[in-house]
Amino acid sequence: MAEILAAGEAMERALALLEGGDVVAIPTETVYGLAGDATNGVGVARIFEVKGRPRFNPLIAHVADLAMAERIALFDPLSKRLAQTFWPGPLTLVLPQRPGNGIHPLVTAGLDTIALRMPKGFGGELIARLGRPLAAPSANSSGRISATTAEAVAADLGSKIRLVVDGGATSVGLESTIVKVEGGKLRLLRPGGIAAEEIEAAAGVKLSRGAAGIEAPGMLASHYAPGAAVRLNAETIAKGEALLAFGDRRAEGWQNAAALRNLSETGDLREAAANLFAHMQDLDRSGARTIAVEPIPFDGLGEAINDRLSRAAAPRDQAAPRDKID
Ligand code: AMP
Ligand code: MG
Repeated sequence: MAEILAAGEAMERALALLEGGDVVAIPTETVYGLAGDATNGVGVARIFEVKGRPRFNPLIAHVADLAMAERIALFDPLSKRLAQTFWPGPLTLVLPQRPGNGIHPLVTAGLDTIALRMPKGFGGELIARLGRPLAAPSANSSGRISATTAEAVAADLGSKIRLVVDGGATSVGLESTIVKVEGGKLRLLRPGGIAAEEIEAAAGVKLSRGAAGIEAPGMLASHYAPGAAVRLNAETIAKGEALLAFGDRRAEGWQNAAALRNLSETGDLREAAANLFAHMQDLDRSGARTIAVEPIPFDGLGEAINDRLSRAAAPRDQAAPRDKID
């Protein structure tokens, strides 16, 4: 069972767990977050595993200050003004990533943009001490409502995590508002803890809504499609195909593969999740026309891995169903 420690006495324990690639439930002003080091693929994979998320949708990366944010992303003037006005606070900005920022691709689901926010209180202090950003979706099992007290987190996730940091009931109690600046225009991607009118007043421009369903990543199957065709559950490998392997037994004809990456030699699904985006990109860059994927089990993180791979294999113009609330 998770230990529940008051925020005043939890800092060192939380740091040790995060340094070790584990997750920690933390209070923020919006809802409790399930936090992992955003630069550590195994730590980020743990987040999806603990939540039981059936999909790798992109997570919000949390920063300690504007300087950390600017090392991660490229700010246009309007986004910067909004950050200066509302941070720390329940506003998330979607921004282009700065190349080489060290963010693990599982945080952004392989996108070239990133969602950033600076939280108040314990979370902000923890990130400053760690010196690295934290990926943190709401600390609840996928499909359940967000937790706003440490007790609610412990009741839901207590058997799966080591530490819940208790900061009392969250003050906002709603997820952050997510906005994105596009060509000088401001779009509302998700309503949340800061009212749209407040943001409009600070920005001096109207927010556009609508079509957010398509804008949010993970909504289009083809979003994740590599240039190569993708063939799932491959039992035999044809000459010239690239092979995305899993485990220690190779598909027949694996020697034919033009390029090979193994998601996890030992069949560890957490390791496989952490490697998924980088390996797919490597194989795509090999120039092979087809990436053959060995069968991957559906238990644990296997469900999300298979979901992402089947999107990569889907016909390129097909829209996928919307993500569930989680
Ligand atoms: P949460 O579970 O609260 O961390 O929610 C993350 C939200 O941020 C989801 O609605 C995502 O679709 C959205 N999000 C994260 N990253 C991006 C991005 N790069 N572009 C657009 N939306 C994003
Ligand atoms: Mg949530």
